[in-house]
Amino acid sequence: SGPRIKWDVQSKKKQKKVAVLTSGGDSAGMNAAVRAVVRQTIARGCQAYIIREGWEGLVRGNTAEPTPAVSRRGSQAPSPSLGAMQSFSFTQSFAPEDINLGAAAARVHGDVQAAEDDKPVQFSDPMRVAPLTAAPLSFGYGSLLRDGAGEADIDEDGMFHIPEEVEGGKTLRGRYIVRVGWDDVRGWLGEGGTLIGSSRCPSFRTREGRLKAAHNLVRYGIDCLAVCGGDGSLTGADTLRAEWPGLIKELHSNGDINDEELENFRHLNIVGLVGSIDNDMAMTDLTIGAVTALHRICEAIDSIGSTASSHSRAFVIEVMGRHCGWLALMAGVATGADFIFIPEHPPAKQDWETAMCDVLKQHRRVGKRKSIVIVAEGALDSDLKPIKPEYVKDVLSERLGLDTRVTTLGHTQRGGVPAAFDRILPTLQGVKAVDTLLEATPDTPSYMIGISENKITKIPLLEAVAQTKKVADAIEAMDFDLAMSYRDSEFTDMLTAFKVSSSLAASERLPDNKRLRIAIVHVGAPAGGMNAATRQAVRFCHERGHVPLAIYNGWEGLLEDNVSELTWLRVDNWTTRGGSELGTNRTLPDVDMGQVASALQRHQIDAMLVIGGFEGYNSVRLLEKSRKDYPSLCIPMVHLPATISNNVPMTDFSLGSDTSLNALVVAADAIKQSAAASRNRVFVVDVQGGMSGYIAVLGALAVGAVLVYTPEQGINLACLVEDVEFLKERYALDEKGKSEGRLVIRSEKASSVYTTEVLTSILKEEGAELFDARSASLGHTLQGGVPSPLDRTRAARLAMLSMQFLEKHARPNSQAFHRRRTGEDMIPHETAAMIAIRGSKIVFASMSDVQNHTDMKRRRGTDVWWAGVKGLAEVMGGRTGVLVDM
Ligand code: ATP
Repeated sequence: SGPRIKWDVQSKKKQKKVAVLTSGGDSAGMNAAVRAVVRQTIARGCQAYIIREGWEGLVRGNTAEPTPAVSRRGSQAPSPSLGAMQSFSFTQSFAPEDINLGAAAARVHGDVQAAEDDKPVQFSDPMRVAPLTAAPLSFGYGSLLRDGAGEADIDEDGMFHIPEEVEGGKTLRGRYIVRVGWDDVRGWLGEGGTLIGSSRCPSFRTREGRLKAAHNLVRYGIDCLAVCGGDGSLTGADTLRAEWPGLIKELHSNGDINDEELENFRHLNIVGLVGSIDNDMAMTDLTIGAVTALHRICEAIDSIGSTASSHSRAFVIEVMGRHCGWLALMAGVATGADFIFIPEHPPAKQDWETAMCDVLKQHRRVGKRKSIVIVAEGALDSDLKPIKPEYVKDVLSERLGLDTRVTTLGHTQRGGVPAAFDRILPTLQGVKAVDTLLEATPDTPSYMIGISENKITKIPLLEAVAQTKKVADAIEAMDFDLAMSYRDSEFTDMLTAFKVSSSLAASERLPDNKRLRIAIVHVGAPAGGMNAATRQAVRFCHERGHVPLAIYNGWEGLLEDNVSELTWLRVDNWTTRGGSELGTNRTLPDVDMGQVASALQRHQIDAMLVIGGFEGYNSVRLLEKSRKDYPSLCIPMVHLPATISNNVPMTDFSLGSDTSLNALVVAADAIKQSAAASRNRVFVVDVQGGMSGYIAVLGALAVGAVLVYTPEQGINLACLVEDVEFLKERYALDEKGKSEGRLVIRSEKASSVYTTEVLTSILKEEGAELFDARSASLGHTLQGGVPSPLDRTRAARLAMLSMQFLEKHARPNSQAFHRRRTGEDMIPHETAAMIAIRGSKIVFASMSDVQNHTDMKRRRGTDVWWAGVKGLAEVMGGRTGVLVDM
């Protein structure tokens, strides 16, 4: 039998204890990772712990123990009210275990005896137990952690600081290892930095420190550890794992642990989550926090751009990245910078100063009013001499006479609200981390959780750490090609894209007889990244000597001969522009195929790039079908998917979908705040997306919605009844007067009967005293304003690869050639293709391939990578148990 929803309850003996810590430099998304680890641990029936202040907390352990547990069960004392539990502090007399089996759980399930007797609990309705099992545990710690400070952090004078074990002869209370519950991590998705604290811990670099850490793990019975940090932190994790057998033996021979503990803790399961804004870890495409940092950088450079233009200034901007130029490179592509310096690819020429000045001079000569140079913190020249922003500024001022300023973005890059991606990635990875820990056997290695294009992966930690070190070693040995070879293919593509788009030298120009006339058209609704893709395509044409022709206003524009050449300068600012500069609409070429064919011939088009959503695909499909009737259509064409709904078949992502998710996150955060302020309000948020639930589901995961309705699943009465029951029980568990605002996300086409209005009325009516309901419709705001950095960079990469494809398959002067040739099809059908991101690959799919994956009636793909994400979002929202294979 296939997978069924089953609440994964472990008997108490088998209940593993999973702890999570954040270490090294903070990064946005660490909180989402902690939340996911905590919730998945609880959802898998295990106990969740957090370790505060990184490795430091593990080395110090708890210097203030709670006084011995007083069991509320069985005693005559009245159960403490939820309010009393909320104000529970570390020094009061309840051990976490008591709170775990507190009044609320007993009230809901009626019977918690089974759990205590080490028998798995059989719940009658597995769909509804998650928050109920978990929630009671949380009340002790929630408010303490959310405010960032616990009572443990406050000394006798009322001052807040990281407690020292001993200070001035007195021992301060300190609890670094804390058991946490479901609600302790609520609201964490939208918080920047790390709420459980992070630090640099010199003592963990010593064996002595690690011995203490090992002792604390055993003392608290923790055998599974998730570490979220950069390469240093994960190196530490790897060292701890490697030394573990020796450490445990030493603890035993010192008499610190007993025989039983020695036996039970022979193995420590460790998993690494990469939290680092630099994106400097090898064997994973993206680290937690890197995308948010890129958001901050692009926001800053976009703002600097307007003042630079106004005063015709040059700006040298320093961004983070000691050994990795990812941030500088991506920012360069996303903002259309003029020149970049990164550690792994130093400027080619010895005299890079002249090379840089030449590039900027050329840009100024064609009329550019601003110059932006991005310098990574660790930028080097080919002799390993650091390249510093101040020096670059002096060169530009002295040699070009430019009014030049330096801006160091510094710590602004770390902070702030996590971007949508840095909520989704750590959630997916956190869940995977817990599953990996719980599946580990003595024979499995420790893993690092990574991502490859769009797949969450696990890589042996040892290998990833070693590989990361190799990049630094290669740079040190001045073997830059080797350093680049360790970076993923995206990095190399982006570097090429940057070079192509920022150069005016046209050094790669083809001979006259190889040059093409390439048309670019936008089709369908506007989406973030359409203009950035067009810019890259135009710059590619200039580099190679092709003629880039804009078709304005889609196929209708073509029929009106609204076609003209785009210049290099014209598209300069297009990376940051939302919407569609060319104009776009939903008309398909079969509005008049004969005239479309004739116009293509008239304008002597040799190849065509079609940027758009489902209509873009449909356009290329129809054009290809008509090739047999119209020879002028026998030219290569590529469809580059761009739509906020992400409903184009075959591709995992279309341009615009990331911008849209970010717009949703911003709006939903604001709505949630309003919902929370009114204490007990449920907001039904209506989102676009046509017949695809992508935006709704990924949005729900990113904002922590408790329920999500999609067109794929629809809505029926039975599920509404269950959902209402769930909400009632959930609100009943909230402390009076401190209820949380909750979000329900509903795709606009989830049901024609249970509209947003109807749904809201039902919830309002059924919520009665417990909760109120309101609705909000996000409508066209989801198209977003300024495209997100991910959409801009993805646009540049995909457009460049598309143009390379067109160049490879097109023949110059093809329309004249078509006139001469006789009837039969002269061009293979694969030359009408869609560029698609599929798992870890970028492919050019033929129209028949795409058709095989298309549900034409519902205008969406038949198989989508995110099908399982709805279930996950509901687990994280507490709505259902964990999916396990039975
Ligand atoms: P960032 O990407 O922000 O630099 P990081 O995790 O690389 O993050 P580090 O300061 O290098 O930051 O490491 C954080 C902590 O991890 C250190 O303070 C130390 O406690 C531990 N650590 C780092 N390297 C090692 C090592 N080689 N052995 C043991 N522990 C280490």
